[in-house]
Amino acid sequence: MFDLHGMNALVTGASGGIGSAIARGLAAQGARLAVSGSNADKLRVFRDELDEHTPQHLQEVDHVAIKCDLSNPDEVEKLMPAAIDSLGGIDILVNNAGITRDNLAMRMKDEEWDAVMRINLEAAFRLMRAAARPMMKAKFGRIITITSVVGTTGNPGQMNYAAAKGGLTAMSKSLGQELASRNITVNCVAPGFIRTAMTEVLPDAQKEALNARIPMGRMGEGEDIAAAVAYLASREAGYITGQTIHVNGGMAML
Ligand code: NAP
Repeated sequence: MFDLHGMNALVTGASGGIGSAIARGLAAQGARLAVSGSNADKLRVFRDELDEHTPQHLQEVDHVAIKCDLSNPDEVEKLMPAAIDSLGGIDILVNNAGITRDNLAMRMKDEEWDAVMRINLEAAFRLMRAAARPMMKAKFGRIITITSVVGTTGNPGQMNYAAAKGGLTAMSKSLGQELASRNITVNCVAPGFIRTAMTEVLPDAQKEALNARIPMGRMGEGEDIAAAVAYLASREAGYITGQTIHVNGGMAML
C-alpha cells in the first residue's frame, strides 16, 4: 500500500523541519523528488542526505535540488517547468514552504503582511496553476498543501498567517472541483504544533502552555505530517479531494 514508485514529486520548503520529513517519507515510498528551497547550500546537503532514505532497490533514482526564492514571482514561474524538465513529468506537488511574520494586528507592518501572502499563498497559487496543465494531460495528479490549524481557528498575532492558510484551504477546494474529473485530487494537511525551527524559537513557558492545550500532551513530529502526505499522494487516496487532514494531537477536533 501507498507505493509511490514511478511517481515524480516537487516539494517546496524541503530543507525545513516538516518539508524534509515529507521528502524523506515520499522518497521512502519510492517517489522521485525535486526538492526546493531558497538556500542552495542547505538544499544540496539535504538532497545528498535524501539518497540515504531511498529504498535499496531504487538507489538508481536520482533526486534533484532546485533553488527557488518563493518571494520572487519570476523565480516561482520557472520552478514547475524546471522540475518537469529534470524529472520528466509531475505527479505530486507538495506546497509546504511557509513563513511566519507574527505581530498584533495594530502593529502589523505592510511588509509583514506582504511577505506572508507572497510566500505562503501566492507562490502556492502559481505552482498549482503550473501543475494543472501537465496533470490534466496525464489524467493524474496529487496536489497537497500544508496549511495550519490556525487557518481554521485563528490565532492572536497571526492575522497574516491565518489568512494565508485559510486562503490555501479555500483555494484547494476550488481547484479540487475544477480538476476532479481528470483524476487529480487537491487536498491539505493542517498541522497543529510540530517540533521544528518554526516552533523551536518559542519561549519554554509558551511551549509548556501549548503542550497543556494538546490532549496528547506533546508537539507533533515532522513524520506525523509526512505520513498524512504520503497517504494523500498515493493512488489509494484517489477518491479524496478538497479535504483537510488535521494532524494536531487532538488540539482542535474539527
Ligand atoms: P521551517 O523549518 O522554518 O521550514 C520552512 C521551509 O520553507 C524551509 O525549507 C525554507 O527553505 C522554506 N522557505 C522559507 N522561505 C522561503 C522562500 N522565500 N523561498 C523558498 N523557500 C522558502 O518550517 P516548518 O515548521 O517545517 O514549516 C513547514 C510548513 O508547515 C509551513 O507551511 C508552515 O506554515 C507549516 N506549519 C508548521 C507548523 C509547525 O508547528 N512547525 C504548524 C503548522 C503549519 P530555505 O531555508 O531554503 O528558504
